[in-house]
Amino acid sequence: MESCVFCDIAARKVPARILLEDDDLVAFEDVRPQAPLHALVIPKRHLAHANELQPADAALMGKLLLAAQVVAREKGAADSGWRLVMNTLDDAGQTVFHLHLHVLGGRELGWPPG
Ligand code: 5GP
Ligand code: ZN
Repeated sequence: MESCVFCDIAARKVPARILLEDDDLVAFEDVRPQAPLHALVIPKRHLAHANELQPADAALMGKLLLAAQVVAREKGAADSGWRLVMNTLDDAGQTVFHLHLHVLGGRELGWPPG
């Protein structure tokens, strides 16, 4: 596999501000935050994007969602509101091809996005 910056963050080969971690996932701050809260939650296992998900990944994706909730709560956005975004491929603007949830909050977010 070609090198992947998010695999490297999960392996602590590339520095990042890690917010939480367990055996299956890592959450860290986005290097170019688009809101006061802008974290990324990734599986440690390399999956390029949501099109690669299989039924066996359902529990993993549930864990990512719950980790995002913990991040939102710990960053003080749980009550004011927060948003999850997962960009998949070109029309969605995906730039890093390791599946990730964006956790956004800390300000009023516009809708619709993009
Ligand atoms: P995408 O556009 O693929 O949905 O989002 C990729 C996100 O990863 C962007 O918000 C970008 O700022 C972030 N990002 C890209 N490279 C790095 C990096 O090396 N470290 C961190 N912390 N975030 C990164
Ligand atoms: Zn990767």
